[in-house]
Amino acid sequence: MPDVAFINGAFMPLAEAKVSIEDRGFQFGDGVYEVIRTYNGRPFALETHLARLDRSAKALDLTQPYSSVEWTAHVLEAIGRAAYPEAKIYIQVTRGVAPRDHAYSAEATPTVVMTVREFHPLDRSIQAAGVEAMTVEDIRWGRCDIKSVNLLANVLARQYVRQAGVFEAILVKEGVITEGAISNVMVVQGGTVVTAPEGPRILPGVTRAVVLNLALSEGVPVEERFLSQSEIYEADEVFLTGTTVEVLPVVRIDGKVIGNGRPGPIAKRLAASFTNRVA
Ligand code: PLP
Repeated sequence: MPDVAFINGAFMPLAEAKVSIEDRGFQFGDGVYEVIRTYNGRPFALETHLARLDRSAKALDLTQPYSSVEWTAHVLEAIGRAAYPEAKIYIQVTRGVAPRDHAYSAEATPTVVMTVREFHPLDRSIQAAGVEAMTVEDIRWGRCDIKSVNLLANVLARQYVRQAGVFEAILVKEGVITEGAISNVMVVQGGTVVTAPEGPRILPGVTRAVVLNLALSEGVPVEERFLSQSEIYEADEVFLTGTTVEVLPVVRIDGKVIGNGRPGPIAKRLAASFTNRVA
């Protein structure tokens, strides 16, 4: 089977998968999600992704229908059915189907959706050259730590960068860098990796945590604090972390050259360590 869908416990081809128009995910964006990728057919950091799914659901008082053990079995079965060497697994849990009313009933049965599609990793030449980014005002809500399907501000930011022909939006809230529209942002200043602290303003990225641990284990100091917009232009290095981008150097922001305009030594080292880690 190529692209696989799993809806409320049943597997089917993606083209046959449907949910009701009364689903609160469709009506209100009332749901949470995760994106996981495989390396050589195996899901990377599945447990951490499932733990975050659980945290996001709990934060919205949304009952998760499956335990981590049950989810793991479903995810592995889905990967097996799709049989792609590199796959992207998208899990979504919404508050389910109910007549439209902003307030919800505790009895609603959640809708569970999982899809598995082929994943095309970024070309290694893009990784090697680094990418360009632009700053965009962070107009998201006050709980960006919840991985909610309500992604309108990210949708707009990604559209701006597509129109500008650059790779990622670096979000700026009240003068400080929060994160990217689909990634976390890290900066190197005098040999230290600096990134925004966990809290309501950023998504606690699974890749972010792996990369910060790799840095520490290699003796690279790490500091979690907010950086101002001007600090990012003056940084020695800037890079993005995320499930789909891994560790991706940024060499230009808003047309300004970062460092010497090429991926820096710490970003390159952490990208290599990350590749070793996933292998
Ligand atoms: N920040 C945002 C807003 C994201 O959407 C993502 C990934 O989708 C990330 C950060 C990176 O998180 P992760 O490393 O868990 O993929």
